[in-house]
Amino acid sequence: MRDFSYVRANSVDAARRAAALPGAMLLAGGTTLVDLAKCGVAEPETLVDIAHLKGLDSIEVNEHGATIGALCRMSHVADHADIKSRFPAVSEALWQAASAQIRNMATIGGNLMQRTRCPYFRDPGNFSACNKREPGSGCSAIGGVTRGHAVLGASDACIAMYPGDLAVALVAFDAKVHLDERQLSVDNFFLLPGTTPNKEHAIEPGEMITAIEIPGSVAARRSTYLKIRDRQSFEFAAASAAVGIEFEADGRTIRDLRVALGGVATKPWRARTVEDALKGKVLEPGAVHAASLLAVKGAVDYGANHYKIELAPRVVARAILKLGETA
Ligand code: FAD
Ligand code: SF4
Repeated sequence: MRDFSYVRANSVDAARRAAALPGAMLLAGGTTLVDLAKCGVAEPETLVDIAHLKGLDSIEVNEHGATIGALCRMSHVADHADIKSRFPAVSEALWQAASAQIRNMATIGGNLMQRTRCPYFRDPGNFSACNKREPGSGCSAIGGVTRGHAVLGASDACIAMYPGDLAVALVAFDAKVHLDERQLSVDNFFLLPGTTPNKEHAIEPGEMITAIEIPGSVAARRSTYLKIRDRQSFEFAAASAAVGIEFEADGRTIRDLRVALGGVATKPWRARTVEDALKGKVLEPGAVHAASLLAVKGAVDYGANHYKIELAPRVVARAILKLGETA
């Protein structure tokens, strides 16, 4: 870890100005950034501490939706009564993310900005080839150990999986990221690797996340987040699904369906093909299992991650059927 200077920002403007300087990085809860600095992936010249900024740690919920400040802690949002009742998938995604200690430190803005857990990316001392870290250097994962890598959205340059949980629920419910002066859908905020895997987010130097906004909907109210992982205490997803559903008055025909996948793609992955296949249909297990297979249409495995192609549709189907039981 090399020396760096430390600046404590006292306003959003001051933070943005400081963050625009070459080599500067924002510091919120520090649960990702400190790790990345220790392993030599992040080498900030200046850390701009935003953790104490006023006005970015509130949660407002009304009939239109929720606005959540970027500095809200994950645990605060997960446990908020209105988030639990109106956006259960968001609360559940946060509860199943990381450990209690990390959730108490980590912020919502930092969560959206977390980097991949690809072990080659995080080990520059032993693996120099990583296009995400060093554009043009190659990819150590292709032909290497791929159990945790993506089967959807990968490119020849990078197959790293997007590891977060919250953003999967946000993508399912058309949430937006507020970057102070502009807003972007969460879906467009995350970028596919293509030929530039080093650029993961549509955020420019000098911009910072100030809030996220989630529109209210019936489907968001009847929603869930199902995460399958190697251990329950804390672990990133092997495959996960955020699902929300709205029924017609008969309580069986699907009027609206939202499905997004985690743990399997290079970004939070909205599965519109599954949604379109089931909208207007009566919810029954055969149709749900058949439609859920569409979630991985076009998936490509790299050997050890093949299991994700079988697991993901089962996770999607189980989540949809679980919501059907509560109809
Ligand atoms: P920081 O570490 O402070 O910052 C992270 C990055 O975000 C930095 O690049 C920083 O510059 C940038 N940043 C921070 N705030 C802003 C802002 N407002 N605007 C723009 N950029 C900003 N996550 C999951 O979703 N699921 C898991 O299962 C999970 N398991 C984990 C297990 C472990 C052991 C650890 C260490 C982490 C795990 N995480 C998991 C990731 C965790 O959620 C993130 O570390 C955390 O959310 C980051 O938030 P932070 O406030 O600590 O960010
Ligand atoms: Fe780097 Fe992406 Fe290859 Fe991992 S998968 S080594 S992050 S280029």
